[in-house]
Amino acid sequence: MRERGFRLQPEGSHILPPLKAEATSGGHTRIRGRNQSLTRLEERKRQALKQLQELGVLMHAGHYDYGNGYHGRAYLNPHRLFVHPATIWRLAQDLLDVLPGDLLERTEVVAGPVMGGALLAHTLSGLLDGRRALTHPASSFAPFTYREGTASELVLRDFYARHVAGRRVLLADDVRNTGATFARCAQIVERAGGTVIATVEICDRLEAVVDPGVPNYALAEYEAPENYAVAECPMCRAGEPITTF
Ligand SMILES: [Zn+2]
Repeated sequence: MRERGFRLQPEGSHILPPLKAEATSGGHTRIRGRNQSLTRLEERKRQALKQLQELGVLMHAGHYDYGNGYHGRAYLNPHRLFVHPATIWRLAQDLLDVLPGDLLERTEVVAGPVMGGALLAHTLSGLLDGRRALTHPASSFAPFTYREGTASELVLRDFYARHVAGRRVLLADDVRNTGATFARCAQIVERAGGTVIATVEICDRLEAVVDPGVPNYALAEYEAPENYAVAECPMCRAGEPITTF
């Protein structure tokens, strides 16, 4: 499958611009007052972030060419999440741990955009049933794919559109960037007659500017560091070679 299939990867999305902390919304980790569970959650997030670094998903202290005229020290590579299936299974379990119980109970369909979001959604949907009573109706899965002949226009095939109609849908993606992908997916689900109840991702880059109006939950939050126009790149000036991997 082509690299573009990953929601993180299309043009320009490697850029890790300065943090806009106010852009985060919805996640219960932002709700203060449940101190004990908050501490546990924050500890889990710290661990998750560390794990993403160990897995090579988050790469620091390099000199990366983002391919769009900017260089920076950090790079986010979601392919590492999926190259070993056990990795995403484990992280999906951790992500389920940070979701509120009623969300786990109410979810009927987990849906995500190709490729990373769909792989995560499929895994979450399967694992979800292990967290609910045996008598609970089975969770199902729906992938958003690209309209034939396009590389970025997400659609839900008729089969899945009929399936989400009248159902409560949890949207999943590997990484949340601007939030535009979730917003598009939410629109598709609503047009198909489904109801989006929340969005979830492995890693939130804390720069969402589009909000589909439902709670958002992330396993890890990654505050993006600065990046530089090539002409002003201090690493280039210092003669540091571009990092390859
Ligand atoms: Zn440079």
